[in-house]
Amino acid sequence: RLEIRNLVRRYEGRVVVDDVSLRIGAGQVTCLLGPSGCGKSTTLRMIAGVEMQDAGEIHVDGRLICDTVVRVPPERRQIGLMFQDFALFPHLSVADNVAFGLKGAKEERRARVEELLDRVDLLRHIDAYPHELSGGEQQRVALARALAPRPRIMLMDEPFSGLDNRLRDGIRDETLRLLKEEDTAVLLVTHEPDEAMRMADEIALMRRGRIVQQGAPYNVYTRPVDKAAVAFFSDIN
Ligand code: ATP
Ligand code: MG
Repeated sequence: RLEIRNLVRRYEGRVVVDDVSLRIGAGQVTCLLGPSGCGKSTTLRMIAGVEMQDAGEIHVDGRLICDTVVRVPPERRQIGLMFQDFALFPHLSVADNVAFGLKGAKEERRARVEELLDRVDLLRHIDAYPHELSGGEQQRVALARALAPRPRIMLMDEPFSGLDNRLRDGIRDETLRLLKEEDTAVLLVTHEPDEAMRMADEIALMRRGRIVQQGAPYNVYTRPVDKAAVAFFSDIN
C-alpha cells in the first residue's frame, strides 16, 4: 500500500505540486486525472524517487521511504514503473529485458521470466529482440519487466497512449488483471476519462498542483466538484 502525505514541489519558487496526499491500498487502482501541466508526472517522479520533494512524506506498506531526512533510493522502494517513454532495452532480448531488475539464482530468475512471459502470452518470443515485436507486444514485455521484481506499488504514466484503440482495450484489461493478481497498489496517470472509469477504484482530480476531488468513479462522475470536472467527463459516452 502506498501513502503520500502533504507532498510539495517547487520549481524556481513556483509551486507545481501543492500539498498532495493520497492513500492506495494493495490491489487498488487510483487514477490521477487532470489537465496538462497540473503536476501529475512530477508527483509520480517523487514517489519513484527520481526527483526529490521539497516537503512531505512517502510510505510504502507502512514504511517511511522518503521525507526531507530519510531517502530510500529508487531501486530499493519496491516500486515498478511503466511510463510512455520508458522503452525496452533494444540490445537485450525479451528474456533479458524482463530479467533486468531481478536478483537471485539464475534458475529462479529464468523461472520468473518464463512465468511472466507466459502470463502476457509472449513465451514464444522469449529469445526475440524488441525491434522484432509489434508495439502491443513490446508493451506487454514492458509490463512483464515492471512486474518481475514483484513491486508493491506500480506507477503508470499514460502507459497505453502509444497504442491504437483496438490494441489498447485488450492490453489495459490484461494489465489490470495481472496487477490485481499480484495485489499491487497502482497509481495511474491518464488524460482519458473513459480509461479512468474503466480501471479505477478511486479517481483523484488534480488541478494546478492540488487534488480538488477524490472518490469512487461513479461518485466523481455523478457529483463533479465544479464545471471543469463536468467538462472533463463530458466526452464519456
Ligand atoms: P502532462 O499531462 O502534460 O504530462 P503533468 O500534469 O504531468 O502534465 P508535470 O510534468 O508534472 O505536468 O509538470 C507540472 C509543472 O511543472 C509544469 O508547469 C511544468 O512546466 C513544470 N516542470 C516540470 N518539470 C520541471 C523542471 N524540471 N523544471 C522546471 N519546471 C518543471
Ligand atoms: Mg505528465
